[in-house]
Amino acid sequence: MNKRLGLVIDQERCIGCEACTVACRIENDFEQGAIRVETQASDHKDAPTGCFPDLTMDFLPQLCNHCQQPPCMGACPLEALVKREDGPVVLDSEKCDGCQACLAACPFDALRFSPRKNKVEKCNLCSHRIDQGLEPFCVLCCEGQAMHFGNLGDPGSRVSKIISAGEVFQLHFDRDTGPSVYYCPPKPKRGFD
Ligand code: SF4
Repeated sequence: MNKRLGLVIDQERCIGCEACTVACRIENDFEQGAIRVETQASDHKDAPTGCFPDLTMDFLPQLCNHCQQPPCMGACPLEALVKREDGPVVLDSEKCDGCQACLAACPFDALRFSPRKNKVEKCNLCSHRIDQGLEPFCVLCCEGQAMHFGNLGDPGSRVSKIISAGEVFQLHFDRDTGPSVYYCPPKPKRGFD
């Protein structure tokens, strides 16, 4: 059975607290954090969408999708980006010289340049943790338990069961990169009588 590690993010449970972003910064010593939480259909964080009383405010955490065909890899002249056999696309920061060629190649806007380090930063799916049998630190720290980590290649895994049980979607699926992050959309909101 092929191992393909990935994530399912449940928008219904995401409260936009950004604990995942903070966790990522702490765990990886990243300048910005490799996961950003956007407020859906809104230009401003924490600004609702719609007209009163029909307002919604849903959050969309975004990060590297650990693509099965990652365009960022081909863009890196130093081969600093590598796809592991178990799924994660990892950046070897020792090899990265900060040229930023990978940034434009990623349809998910998942790579960030750190001026402090003169290197690119990205989510490595906490490979240093998963190699010890642990889950990514953002998943562990998610306040709303909105993030699920597991083997998408195993039909019996929790992530596979969530995907097969319900309505899920992926970002930029039309770009044919084979994303390994799925989202459960928020439920329709209770209306007013
Ligand atoms: Fe590369 Fe972007 Fe795909 Fe991540 S989401 S593997 S950085 S192309």
